[in-house]
Parts: sequence; structure tokens; C-alpha cells
Amino acid sequence: MIANSTTERVKELLADGKLSNRQIARAAGVSRQWVDNLANGKATDCDRPDDGQEEERPPTAPRGAVPRRCACGAKVYGECVACRVRSASDQNNEA
Ligand SMILES: [Zn+2]
Repeated sequence: MIANSTTERVKELLADGKLSNRQIARAAGVSRQWVDNLANGKATDCDRPDDGQEEERPPTAPRGAVPRRCACGAKVYGECVACRVRSASDQNNEA
């Protein structure tokens, strides 16, 4: 169960519209799916978020795929999403 404060925080971030659902999920420490559900009005406080590992598995990764440990410390399947997002936001900061 997600603390009400987390739910409220995510709702605030969603209403703010500045961050993507994925970024909000990372900031709040919940799964992106949960944020997506909340954004769509489907999530309830009773929904259990993933432990954070599942969100790193892209839809294309086969179930049971063995993750590798990226240099950044994240468990990834193929490309490291965290590093890609980080480098993308670095570029945005330069602009
Ligand atoms: Zn990485």
C-alpha cells in the first residue's frame, strides 16, 4: 500500500505537468505503471506498487530475461534506461 502522502505527491506532480510519468515514478519511488494508473484514475491506495525493478524491463524484454548490472548500478535489460534518460536530460539542460 502506498502512503497517502505519496499518492498526493504524485497527484501534485501529475497536475504540475512538468515531469513525465516515468520521472514522477522515479521521484516518488513507485512504479511507472502505478503512476500511469493514477493518471488515468485507475489506481487506488490499495494498489501495491512494484518494487521498482520491474519498470526497468522494457516491453520487448522476454519474461525471465537476465538483467545485467549497468555502470550506474542499475539492473537493466539491454539498454540502460536510467543512463539514457540522464544523458537526455543533460542535453536539455544545455539547451
Ligand atoms: Zn546505467
